[in-house]
Amino acid sequence: MSGTPQPTVSNFIRSIIDADLASGKHDGIVTRFPPEPNGYLHVGHAKSICLNFGLAQDYQGKCHLRFDDTNPEKESEEYALSIQEDVRWLGFEWDGEVRWASDYFDALYGFAVELINKGLAYVDDLTPEQMREYRGTLTQPGKNSPGRDRPIAENLDLFARMKNGEFADGSMVLRARIDMASPNINLRDPVIYRIRRAHHIRTGDKWCIYPMYDYSHCISDALEGITHSLCTLEFEDHRPLYDWVLDNIAIPCHPHQYEFSRLELHYTITSKRKLLQLVNEKHVSGWDDPRMPTISGMRRRGYTSEGIREFARRIGVSKSENIVDMAIMESAIRDDLESRAARVMAVINPLKVSLTNFDGAQAREADFHPNHPEFGKRLVPISKDIFIEAGDFAEVPPSGWKRLTLGGEVRLRHSYVMRCNEAVKDASGHVIELRCSIDHDTLGKNPEGRKVKGVIHWVACEHALSAEIRMYDRFFTVPEPDADREKSFLDFINPASLTVVQGWVESCVKDAPPETHYQFERLGYFCTDRREHQPGGSLVFNRTVTLRDSWTKE
Ligand code: ATP
Ligand code: MG
Repeated sequence: MSGTPQPTVSNFIRSIIDADLASGKHDGIVTRFPPEPNGYLHVGHAKSICLNFGLAQDYQGKCHLRFDDTNPEKESEEYALSIQEDVRWLGFEWDGEVRWASDYFDALYGFAVELINKGLAYVDDLTPEQMREYRGTLTQPGKNSPGRDRPIAENLDLFARMKNGEFADGSMVLRARIDMASPNINLRDPVIYRIRRAHHIRTGDKWCIYPMYDYSHCISDALEGITHSLCTLEFEDHRPLYDWVLDNIAIPCHPHQYEFSRLELHYTITSKRKLLQLVNEKHVSGWDDPRMPTISGMRRRGYTSEGIREFARRIGVSKSENIVDMAIMESAIRDDLESRAARVMAVINPLKVSLTNFDGAQAREADFHPNHPEFGKRLVPISKDIFIEAGDFAEVPPSGWKRLTLGGEVRLRHSYVMRCNEAVKDASGHVIELRCSIDHDTLGKNPEGRKVKGVIHWVACEHALSAEIRMYDRFFTVPEPDADREKSFLDFINPASLTVVQGWVESCVKDAPPETHYQFERLGYFCTDRREHQPGGSLVFNRTVTLRDSWTKE
C-alpha cells in the first residue's frame, strides 16, 4: 500500500469547496489548524490535521498553523514545540510562519473598542454567581445585567483601565451586547475579555486581559483570510456568535465555519485534560508513552505517519457520530507496514532446542522481504542450539496442529526440516529443552516422500541478540472508559497493558537506528524505541501491532 496514492474520498466539505470554487466565491482555499498549546496532540487532532492540511494540498491552497494561545496559565512552549513536530512528522507543512492568536492581541483589543463604541459591548462587574443566575437556562431566558446599560464613555474608560491593570482578576469582564433572551445561550451577552494576571509564553506580562476563544478565533480567521474554518460539531451552536462578531466589526473578510464530527476511538480517550491527568499522575511514562493515543505516543509505538493518514482517509469526514473501532486504525497501520517493514525472526518466549545431528557453523542468505528484493538480504546463521517459541511445541497437540510435537516435523523458516525426538523436563514436569534432528537434505527443497506443513520461526542461540521487547495491549478494559458516570476513567486502566519480555532477535538488527520498523515473522510488527533503543547496544523494541486483528475476535 505504501507509496501508492490512495483515491480521495469525497465528503460534504469537499462538495462545499467545489461549489465555492465553481461559483467564483473563492479562487483558492485557505484553511487553518488551530490547536491550543496546552497539551500534546492526539489521534483526534490527527483527523483534523489530515483534513485541514489535506484539503490545502489537494486544492493547491494554503493551511496555516495557528496557536490559540489565549489561556496563558495552561499553555507552554514545550507543548507548542511538540505540536509543530507532530504536524511535520505527520507529513504536513504550514504556509508561512507559525501564527499565534497573540499576534493579534492589539487588533483584537481595537475591535473590542470598536464594539464598545457601537454600543455592542459593555463592561460588567457581576460576580460569577450572579453571572450564572442572570444567564438563565435552556428553558428560561436570561435577564439583563445592570451593567448592560452603562454609557459608552464609561465602558471605554473601564475597559482601558481593565487593560491597564487597575482591577483585580475576575472582578470585571467585557461582554458582547447581543440578546439575553436568545434561545442560544452562547448569544446571551457572552464574555469576550477577562482579567487574568498570568505570564504568557509569547507576550510575557504585557497583557493582563485576555480575549475569549469565541471572540478571538473568528477574528483571527478573518485577519488571515481563511476561507473555510473547520471545527468539530460542539461548536455548531457557537457559529451564530462567530458570525455576529464578524458582522459587527469593520473587517473585510468573513470566513465560513463548518462543523464535522469529532473522532472518538474505542478503548482510549481523546480528552486533553484526561491525557494530562494520566501523565501527571504517572499512569503512563509520559505524553509519548506508546499506549497513549497521542501522535507522539503512536509514533513511538511504531505507527507510521502514512498509516495514520490512511486511517484518516478511511474514517472520512461527516457530521454523524464518529466512534471508531481500534481495529480500523490497526488495519491501516498493518497495511502500511506490510510492505514497509523488513522481516526478520525473533523469539519472545524461548524454548531451547539442541540439534543432535548438526555440528559446526552455517548460514543461509534470506530476503528481508518476499516481495521487495530491493530491501536486500541478510545471512541467517544456524548453530547447534537454537531457540524456538515455546508455544510452537505441544506435547499433546490439539487436532489440526501443524507445529512441533514429539515425533513430528516442522520446517525451520529459511532453513531445514527438523524432527523432534525428545522433550527434556524439569523436576516439576515442565518441558525445558527439546532434542531434535534435522534432515540435511531439505535446505531449499521439500523432503522426499512426505509433506511437512508447519513452518516456525527460530533464532540461533550463538548468534541471536538479547532484546527488551515491550508488548502493548489496549490501555482501557472497556470501549468507552469515560462514559461511566459513577466511576472514573482511571478505574478502567488495564493493568496488563504493558508486558516487558526479554527475547532474542536475529543479529542483523544490531545497528538498527531508533524508529526502525520490522516484522518479526509470525509475531507482529515491532519498532525500535525512539528513546531507549541503542544501536549496537541495548536493543529495545515496541510491539506496534499484531499480525492479525486481535480486537474483534472476542
Ligand atoms: P481543548 O479542550 O483544550 O480545547 P481540543 O481537543 O479542542 O481541546 P484544540 O487544541 O483546541 O484541542 O484542538 C485543535 C483542533 O483540533 C480544533 O480545531 C479541534 O476541533 C480539533 N480536534 C480536537 N479534538 C478532535 C477530535 N477528537 N476529532 C477531530 N478533531 C478534533
Ligand atoms: Mg479547543
